[in-house]
Amino acid sequence: MKLKWGASTDVGMVRQQNEDSYLAEENLYVVADGMGGHNAGEVASALAVTTLKAGARTGIDSVERFRELVQQANTAIYTASLDDSTQSGMGTTLTALSIVAGEEPRVLVANVGDARTYLWRNNALTRLSVDHSYVQELVNEGIITPEEARVHPRRNIVTRALGIDRSVVVDVFSHLVRTGDRIVLCSDGLVDEVSDADIAVVLGQHSDPQDTAEALVMVANTAGGRDNTTVIVIDVLDDISEPVVLPTPDNTTPMEALAPMQLTPAKKSKVGMVLFWSALVAIVFSAITVIGVYGRSGYFIGFDSNDQVAIYRGRVGGILWFQPTIETQTSMSGEELPEDILRDVALNREFSSSSQASKYLALIRIAIIDATTTTSTTTTVR
Ligand code: MG
Repeated sequence: MKLKWGASTDVGMVRQQNEDSYLAEENLYVVADGMGGHNAGEVASALAVTTLKAGARTGIDSVERFRELVQQANTAIYTASLDDSTQSGMGTTLTALSIVAGEEPRVLVANVGDARTYLWRNNALTRLSVDHSYVQELVNEGIITPEEARVHPRRNIVTRALGIDRSVVVDVFSHLVRTGDRIVLCSDGLVDEVSDADIAVVLGQHSDPQDTAEALVMVANTAGGRDNTTVIVIDVLDDISEPVVLPTPDNTTPMEALAPMQLTPAKKSKVGMVLFWSALVAIVFSAITVIGVYGRSGYFIGFDSNDQVAIYRGRVGGILWFQPTIETQTSMSGEELPEDILRDVALNREFSSSSQASKYLALIRIAIIDATTTTSTTTTVR
């Protein structure tokens, strides 16, 4: 199999630093999008790339091997974040592609987070990876469309990332490839600014992969460039085997797709643990209670139809005919909330009692006041 590839990365039009890292080599292609203060995002994404690069020397020819390597990258970042307090809580999303030669050449696509791998074939663009993001969960549940997801105010909340926890669930997909295929790996900086339809147009306008990668980055910047953008374009040139695609993920289960947020900052981890144990207690309780009681027990926080914070009684999504009802309505909107609380609300944090939910609501109010006070103090100093 003969490949030709090009890659381009850019800080964009708004940010000061490029926290994306990438690798484009004969058999391994990686895009990692780091996050964390004090340059930690760059450290996290670079660690992901170097770990995979080192591991690839012995080959990545199986789903298991690829998954193991991504786990190693997770461990490397997680350990580094524990060793250096300035890097606490750093993480990175990752999409990576390994070429497996043979009679039926194929690619393995590993994915954690919302960087993406696409296949461009016969002028049609399809996604080879599935985002681990809040909006993807809404799409999966049929609440919003993929196009609505792209412009959703909470589109940047990822539900999985490397380095946040001791271990991570890694998707690995296997696809057969053929001559004429064009594969694109990119960070969310591209897809937040450019629709899949427009990406497809650009892919059709350029034949050289390097030109194409640069053109895609330019289009993202022209559309606003609000994030770092990284693009790798790989063309499959040789005539190879029968054209068959196997787009089925080999490991993702609905439960994994709905795994709890892993991006909770270290500062909030105690709250996270409390909520986790509360949820566990609620689950044990429900197991020994009739389903009707279960359906009406428990509370969770979320946004109502007017996008205002509310405490609901019942279960997220409802159970059978027991639908959640609003217990406490507030006038707080998503825009007022600090990032970490916004995630809690968006992901419907659960509580085992009304008083726990009320306490959490009080915490949010304090956090908003703190944020406002900090802002006004800063303004005064200036
Ligand atoms: Mg990004």
